[in-house]
Amino acid sequence: MATISIHPAVDHGVKPGTAGFAGATLTCHCATDAVEVEIGSDCLHNHVCGCTKCWKPAGATFSQVAVVTSDNTKVTKNGDKLKVVDPNALIQRHACTACGVHMHGPVVRPNHPFTGLTFIHTELGGDGWAAPTFAAFVSSVIEGGTDPSKMDGIRARLNELGLPPYDALSPGLMDYIATFTAKANGVLK
Ligand SMILES: [Zn+2]
Ligand SMILES: [Zn+2]
Repeated sequence: MATISIHPAVDHGVKPGTAGFAGATLTCHCATDAVEVEIGSDCLHNHVCGCTKCWKPAGATFSQVAVVTSDNTKVTKNGDKLKVVDPNALIQRHACTACGVHMHGPVVRPNHPFTGLTFIHTELGGDGWAAPTFAAFVSSVIEGGTDPSKMDGIRARLNELGLPPYDALSPGLMDYIATFTAKANGVLK
Protein backbone atom coordinates (compact mmCIF):
# COMPACT_ATOMS: atom_id res chain seq x y z
CA MET A 1 0.00 0.00 0.00
CA ALA A 2 1.37 3.42 -0.92
CA THR A 3 2.05 5.66 2.04
CA ILE A 4 -0.77 8.10 2.58
CA SER A 5 0.30 11.74 2.70
CA ILE A 6 -1.46 13.64 5.46
CA HIS A 7 0.59 16.87 5.59
CA PRO A 8 4.33 17.40 5.03
CA ALA A 9 4.83 18.52 8.65
CA VAL A 10 3.61 15.19 10.07
CA ASP A 11 4.24 12.64 7.29
CA HIS A 12 7.60 11.65 8.78
CA GLY A 13 6.28 11.60 12.35
CA VAL A 14 4.91 14.36 14.56
CA LYS A 15 7.75 16.55 15.85
CA PRO A 16 7.43 17.47 19.52
CA GLY A 17 7.34 21.18 20.33
CA THR A 18 10.04 23.08 22.22
CA ALA A 19 9.35 23.72 25.92
CA GLY A 20 8.90 27.45 26.60
CA PHE A 21 8.45 28.30 22.91
CA ALA A 22 7.36 31.94 22.73
CA GLY A 23 6.10 32.29 19.15
CA ALA A 24 7.70 33.26 15.85
CA THR A 25 7.09 35.25 12.68
CA LEU A 26 4.85 33.67 10.02
CA THR A 27 5.99 34.39 6.46
CA CYS A 28 3.95 33.82 3.27
CA HIS A 29 5.34 32.06 0.19
CA CYS A 30 6.06 35.20 -1.88
CA ALA A 31 9.71 35.44 -2.99
CA THR A 32 9.59 39.23 -2.67
CA ASP A 33 7.58 41.52 -0.40
CA ALA A 34 6.37 38.59 1.70
CA VAL A 35 3.63 39.19 4.23
CA GLU A 36 4.84 38.74 7.80
CA VAL A 37 2.72 38.15 10.89
CA GLU A 38 4.32 38.18 14.33
CA ILE A 39 2.93 35.67 16.85
CA GLY A 40 3.81 36.44 20.46
CA SER A 41 3.10 33.07 22.07
CA ASP A 42 3.12 29.34 21.48
CA CYS A 43 -0.03 27.94 19.86
CA LEU A 44 -2.89 25.93 21.37
CA HIS A 45 -5.01 23.10 19.93
CA ASN A 46 -2.63 22.42 17.04
CA HIS A 47 -4.18 19.82 14.74
CA VAL A 48 -4.54 18.69 11.16
CA CYS A 49 -7.84 19.66 9.52
CA GLY A 50 -9.63 17.99 6.63
CA CYS A 51 -12.09 20.81 5.85
CA THR A 52 -12.05 22.48 2.44
CA LYS A 53 -11.67 26.03 3.84
CA CYS A 54 -8.30 25.88 5.60
CA TRP A 55 -5.21 26.60 3.49
CA LYS A 56 -3.02 23.61 2.78
CA PRO A 57 0.28 23.28 0.92
CA ALA A 58 0.25 21.72 -2.57
CA GLY A 59 -0.34 17.96 -2.48
CA ALA A 60 -1.39 17.82 1.21
CA THR A 61 -4.66 16.05 2.12
CA PHE A 62 -4.99 18.00 5.40
CA SER A 63 -4.07 21.47 6.56
CA GLN A 64 -2.20 21.97 9.82
CA VAL A 65 -3.87 24.65 11.92
CA ALA A 66 -3.73 25.95 15.50
CA VAL A 67 -5.00 28.89 17.53
CA VAL A 68 -3.44 31.78 19.44
CA THR A 69 -5.17 34.69 21.15
CA SER A 70 -5.78 37.52 18.69
CA ASP A 71 -3.94 40.02 20.90
CA ASN A 72 -0.77 37.95 20.31
CA THR A 73 -1.10 38.38 16.53
CA LYS A 74 0.35 41.36 14.65
CA VAL A 75 0.74 41.90 10.88
CA THR A 76 4.17 43.49 10.61
CA LYS A 77 5.01 43.47 6.87
CA ASN A 78 3.10 43.90 3.59
CA GLY A 79 -0.32 43.69 5.22
CA ASP A 80 -1.75 45.55 2.21
CA LYS A 81 -1.48 42.25 0.27
CA LEU A 82 -3.96 40.52 2.60
CA LYS A 83 -7.63 40.00 1.77
CA VAL A 84 -10.34 38.10 3.69
CA VAL A 85 -11.24 34.97 1.69
CA ASP A 86 -14.88 34.78 2.81
CA PRO A 87 -16.20 37.66 4.94
CA ASN A 88 -19.24 35.55 5.92
CA ALA A 89 -17.18 32.70 7.38
CA LEU A 90 -16.71 32.40 11.15
CA ILE A 91 -12.94 32.41 10.69
CA GLN A 92 -11.85 35.58 8.87
CA ARG A 93 -9.06 33.90 6.87
CA HIS A 94 -6.68 36.61 5.65
CA ALA A 95 -4.97 35.30 2.50
CA CYS A 96 -2.02 36.78 0.62
CA THR A 97 -3.50 37.91 -2.70
CA ALA A 98 -0.19 37.10 -4.48
CA CYS A 99 0.68 33.56 -3.25
CA GLY A 100 -2.65 32.46 -1.75
CA VAL A 101 -1.29 31.44 1.66
CA HIS A 102 -3.62 32.13 4.62
CA MET A 103 -1.68 34.21 7.13
CA HIS A 104 -4.08 34.64 10.06
CA GLY A 105 -7.75 33.95 10.70
CA PRO A 106 -9.29 35.87 13.60
CA VAL A 107 -12.76 35.08 14.94
CA VAL A 108 -14.53 38.39 15.55
CA ARG A 109 -18.20 37.30 15.64
CA PRO A 110 -19.82 38.52 18.89
CA ASN A 111 -20.80 35.92 21.51
CA HIS A 112 -19.08 32.98 19.85
CA PRO A 113 -16.95 30.58 21.95
CA PHE A 114 -13.96 31.21 19.63
CA THR A 115 -14.20 35.02 19.68
CA GLY A 116 -10.78 36.51 20.46
CA LEU A 117 -8.90 33.56 18.98
CA THR A 118 -6.95 33.58 15.73
CA PHE A 119 -6.29 30.51 13.58
CA ILE A 120 -2.75 30.20 12.21
CA HIS A 121 -0.67 27.74 10.19
CA THR A 122 2.41 27.17 12.35
CA GLU A 123 4.47 25.72 9.46
CA LEU A 124 4.81 29.30 8.15
CA GLY A 125 6.89 30.10 11.25
CA GLY A 126 9.40 27.24 11.46
CA ASP A 127 9.77 24.59 14.18
CA GLY A 128 9.23 24.70 17.93
CA TRP A 129 5.45 25.14 18.10
CA ALA A 130 3.32 22.85 20.28
CA ALA A 131 2.76 19.73 18.16
CA PRO A 132 -0.55 18.74 16.58
CA THR A 133 -2.52 16.30 18.75
CA PHE A 134 -5.59 15.30 16.72
CA ALA A 135 -7.23 15.38 13.29
CA ALA A 136 -10.45 17.38 12.79
CA PHE A 137 -13.14 17.16 10.09
CA VAL A 138 -11.59 13.99 8.70
CA SER A 139 -14.62 12.92 6.63
CA SER A 140 -14.53 16.33 4.88
CA VAL A 141 -11.42 15.36 2.85
CA ILE A 142 -13.92 13.53 0.62
CA GLU A 143 -15.46 16.94 -0.17
CA GLY A 144 -11.95 18.02 -1.15
CA GLY A 145 -11.72 15.19 -3.69
CA THR A 146 -10.33 12.23 -1.72
CA ASP A 147 -11.70 8.86 -2.84
CA PRO A 148 -14.01 7.53 -0.07
CA SER A 149 -12.34 4.11 -0.39
CA LYS A 150 -9.15 5.67 1.04
CA MET A 151 -10.77 6.73 4.32
CA ASP A 152 -9.98 3.58 6.33
CA GLY A 153 -6.32 3.92 5.35
CA ILE A 154 -6.30 7.64 6.19
CA ARG A 155 -7.84 7.07 9.63
CA ALA A 156 -5.40 4.21 10.31
CA ARG A 157 -2.45 6.42 9.34
CA LEU A 158 -3.72 9.28 11.56
CA ASN A 159 -3.96 6.88 14.52
CA GLU A 160 -0.47 5.58 13.77
CA LEU A 161 0.85 9.17 13.85
CA GLY A 162 -0.83 9.79 17.23
CA LEU A 163 -3.44 12.11 15.69
CA PRO A 164 -6.80 10.54 16.65
CA PRO A 165 -9.30 11.24 13.86
CA TYR A 166 -12.57 13.06 14.55
CA ASP A 167 -15.24 14.04 12.05
CA ALA A 168 -15.87 17.36 13.83
CA LEU A 169 -13.49 18.90 16.40
CA SER A 170 -11.85 16.97 19.25
CA PRO A 171 -14.05 15.98 22.23
CA GLY A 172 -12.30 18.66 24.35
CA LEU A 173 -13.20 21.42 21.90
CA MET A 174 -16.73 20.12 21.30
CA ASP A 175 -17.27 20.13 25.11
CA TYR A 176 -15.87 23.67 25.27
CA ILE A 177 -18.34 24.89 22.63
CA ALA A 178 -21.29 23.07 24.25
CA THR A 179 -20.36 24.50 27.67
CA PHE A 180 -20.30 28.03 26.20
CA THR A 181 -23.72 27.45 24.62
CA ALA A 182 -25.22 25.94 27.79
CA LYS A 183 -24.00 28.94 29.82
CA ALA A 184 -25.28 31.40 27.20
CA ASN A 185 -28.72 29.68 27.37
CA GLY A 186 -28.73 29.63 31.18
CA VAL A 187 -28.76 25.81 31.30
CA LEU A 188 -25.41 25.86 33.11
CA LYS A 189 -24.33 28.49 35.62
ZN1 LIG B 1 2.39 35.92 -0.41
ZN1 LIG C 1 -10.17 23.40 8.41
